[in-house]
Amino acid sequence: MNDANGFSWEFENTYAELPPEFSAEVTPARFRSPRVAILNHRLADELGLSVPDAEEPSVASVLAGQAIPAGARPIAQAYAGHQFGGFTMLGDGRAILLGEHRTPAGRLVDVQFKGSGRTPYSRRGDGLAALGPMLREYVVGEAMHALGIPTTRSLAVVATGEKVRRERPLPGAVLTRVAASHLRVGTFEYAASFLGESAVRTLADYAIARHDPELAAEPQPYLAFLRAVIDRQAALVASWQLVGFVHGVMNTDNMTISGETIDYGPCAFLDEYHADMVFSSIDEGGRYAYKNQPPIAQWNLCRFAETLLPLLDADKDEAVATATTAIESFVPAYEGYWLDGMRRKLGLQQEESGDRELVEALLKGMQAAGADFTGTFRQLAETGRLPLDLENDECLRAWREQWTERLGREGRTPESAGPQMRAVNPAVVPRNHRVEEALAAAENDDMTVLHDLLAALSKPFDSSAAPEYQQPPPANRPRYRTFCGT
Ligand code: AMP
Ligand code: MG
Repeated sequence: MNDANGFSWEFENTYAELPPEFSAEVTPARFRSPRVAILNHRLADELGLSVPDAEEPSVASVLAGQAIPAGARPIAQAYAGHQFGGFTMLGDGRAILLGEHRTPAGRLVDVQFKGSGRTPYSRRGDGLAALGPMLREYVVGEAMHALGIPTTRSLAVVATGEKVRRERPLPGAVLTRVAASHLRVGTFEYAASFLGESAVRTLADYAIARHDPELAAEPQPYLAFLRAVIDRQAALVASWQLVGFVHGVMNTDNMTISGETIDYGPCAFLDEYHADMVFSSIDEGGRYAYKNQPPIAQWNLCRFAETLLPLLDADKDEAVATATTAIESFVPAYEGYWLDGMRRKLGLQQEESGDRELVEALLKGMQAAGADFTGTFRQLAETGRLPLDLENDECLRAWREQWTERLGREGRTPESAGPQMRAVNPAVVPRNHRVEEALAAAENDDMTVLHDLLAALSKPFDSSAAPEYQQPPPANRPRYRTFCGT
């Protein structure tokens, strides 16, 4: 049934029903003239929302938090987190959970506003968001989804019509984000550090009911839950590595229990391959560099496991031993996902003991040659050959011969492996320069560049995308930097 504003929400408020320390009731800030910048009709349909036309004023009003739908109970969630290694109390400083929507398929999803005003957890922040970064989250999230990588999604970005004060005044916006949940490693750290064991148990039971209901019947449900989260994150981070995605700010508050990618701030995709690549201007030590993402994920999962210790065993030493074993399983799990994924990228259907070395030799050659990450794999998939500019690179030529032999042992050739490879090596990823170009146009009220980019990103494995979306940036560009806290 559609409500007075034309939406058909089916809200539940399970998180708001947790003990009061877990959240705070809040009211979104007032914005005088909100206007829809972009609306994700396909997602709205999947969610069974039957959103009216984006031009309807009621749509902007609802998606800017100005008209609270019946059944919604807006809250800000409390959480803590390790930011660049240091522990802090955080919480939704500029986000408001409108409620949890039950989809026609029976899935429960969080519907959250980002940039909707101050909350009790805002600290010194203004609670607001600028249009560019919210559109960036929209674009990169949708691209990740199309690539088949678990992620939060964006339902809409609404321009508030007001300026936010940053280094210069910028147009303000509210993003509506849809997630399997917003439970984070940091949520458990908050419960463990500030609320105590019984709150951790309550939270763990809640998370199990929400994400792993089948584990409730296990003999050791909390251990099974820990293992499930470790496995999801191992799979997730492997999928990032396989497409050259650098999250940029893998603080424990930005790591979900659901295994979805969350918080597209200073993220970027590799153009030129280099394992040390870091884009975020604030990540001076390279803590969250491309090559560090797997070990950082494991470090974050250690913080998660620590919060569960009292639930794992009454005996502290036993609990630590159990958690340690679980945490150690991250490495083989990650490496398994990564190597399987790399085999698929190279068209290999069988396992051989030298496969890891084969992949590493390729990456080493790519790094030495400054090869484009996405472009090199895609070229191999499309033609069975190296990109033209690398054809004379001795290392890579030798590698290609090895690879051809390796495929030969499966009775295949680079050409015959092509179709399988094209299904997993994207032609189109949200290249940093294209995203920036689309955001700059959007800031000048031209959304066409962004819509064209989104159309290309929605079919990442399709070679027919316009060449400009497939090509790396011009070689003489300055190093790409991203900025946080906008
Ligand atoms: P992030 O690094 O974007 O995940 O954010 C880290 C923390 O800072 C979270 O608690 C955010 O809610 C908070 N935060 C970020 N920007 C703002 C802002 N403009 N106002 C208030 N809180 C913010
Ligand atoms: Mg965050």
